[in-house]
Amino acid sequence: MKLLVTGGAGFIGSAVVRLAVARGHEVVNLDALTYAACLENVAPVADSPLYTFEQADIRDRAALDRILSQHQPDAIMHLAAESHVDRSIDGPGTFIETNITGTYQLLEAARAYWLAQGRPDSFRFHHISTDEVFGSLGPEGQFTEETPYDPRSPYSASKAASDHLVQAWHHTYGLPVVLTNCSNNYGPYHFPEKLIPVIILNALAGKPLPIYGDGSNVRDWLFVEDHADALLLVVQQGAVGRSYNIGGENERSNLDLVRTLCGILDDLRPKPQGSYADQITFVPDRPGHDARYAIDPTRIRTELGWRPSVTVEEGLRRTVEWYLANEDWWRALQNRAGVGQRLGVRA
Ligand code: NAD
Repeated sequence: MKLLVTGGAGFIGSAVVRLAVARGHEVVNLDALTYAACLENVAPVADSPLYTFEQADIRDRAALDRILSQHQPDAIMHLAAESHVDRSIDGPGTFIETNITGTYQLLEAARAYWLAQGRPDSFRFHHISTDEVFGSLGPEGQFTEETPYDPRSPYSASKAASDHLVQAWHHTYGLPVVLTNCSNNYGPYHFPEKLIPVIILNALAGKPLPIYGDGSNVRDWLFVEDHADALLLVVQQGAVGRSYNIGGENERSNLDLVRTLCGILDDLRPKPQGSYADQITFVPDRPGHDARYAIDPTRIRTELGWRPSVTVEEGLRRTVEWYLANEDWWRALQNRAGVGQRLGVRA
C-alpha cells in the first residue's frame, strides 16, 4: 500500500512509519515538525526508496491538496496532533487549531482527492485517536466502542471533536473512514517530557521522581510497536465506518508503574546505595485528573485477530534499555526550549 502518514515524526507516527516501511509499504510522512517532532525517529528508514518526507501543516489546505495529488496514496493514517494533556491545560488554543481545524482541513482535502479518484471503495481515511475521549472510569469496567463520549481535558475534548468530524464525513459524504481509540503508549522514542521517560531520565540524574497526587490513577499501557502493528492491520482490514479500541489489558497505577521502572533500573544500572524508588516524590495533582482508563479490546481481537506481542514487563524493560543506549537522542530533545519542565502523565 501507499500510505500518507501525518505526524510521522512524532512518537507513535514514527513507529508506524518504521514498521510500514519494514513491511514493504510506501510511506509519505507529512509532518509540520513542531516541538514534539524529531526526524531522528525515522532515521532507520530515511534512506529507503519506500520513504518520502513532506514538511507541511495539516491546517494548510493548499499544501495538503498538492501532496495528495502528487503522491496519490491508497490511505491516509492521521496521527498529527497536539498530544500532551498538561500543555492543553496551559494553552488549549493550539489543540483546537491542530486537532479540530487541522483534521477538518485534512478531511476536506481527502474528500476532494477521493472524489477526483472516482470514489474508490478501497481508499481509507484512518483517524488515530485516544481512549481519553471516553472520560474516566471508576474501579470497575472497561471502555468499549459503544461507551458514550465524555472527554474531560482540552486535549481529549479536541480529540473527541475530531473523531466526530471523521464519523460525520463518513455518514454525510461517504468517505471510507476507520477509527481507532488507543490507551497510553510507551516505548522507544517517547518524548522526554512524558511520564515514563521523565521517570527513567530523572532516576538516572538523581532527581526526584514526580508522581501526581497519591499515584493511584490507573492507566492501561501498550507498547508503541504493538500499537503500530494494530494500526497497520486496521488500515488494511478494518471495516469502513467502524471504530476499534486498542489496548494492552495492562492496567497499572502510576505508583506501581514507577516502582516497576525503578526495579528494572536497579537491575540494569544499580545505584551505589539504595533503590531508585527512594527518589519517588508526590506532587500536587493535575486539575481534573481522570481516575482510571481501561480498554476492552475484544472487537479488534475477535474481528481482526490482533494481540499485543509483549507483556508490559517486557516492554518496559526494552524501553529502559533503549533509553540507556540512546542518550544522544534524549539529551538533544531535553535541550530544546521549554522541554523538561513538565510532568506528562499521559500520551
Ligand atoms: P506526538 O506529539 O509525539 O507527535 C505528534 C506529531 O504531529 C509531531 O511529529 C508533530 O510535529 C506533528 N504535528 C503536530 N501538529 C501538526 C500540524 N498542525 N501539522 C502537521 N503535523 C503536526 O504524538 P503521539 O504521542 O505520537 O500521538 C500521535 C497520535 O496518537 C495523536 O493523534 C494522539 O492523539 C494519538 N494517541 C496517542 C497516545 C499516546 O499514548 N501517545 C495514545 C492514543 C492516541
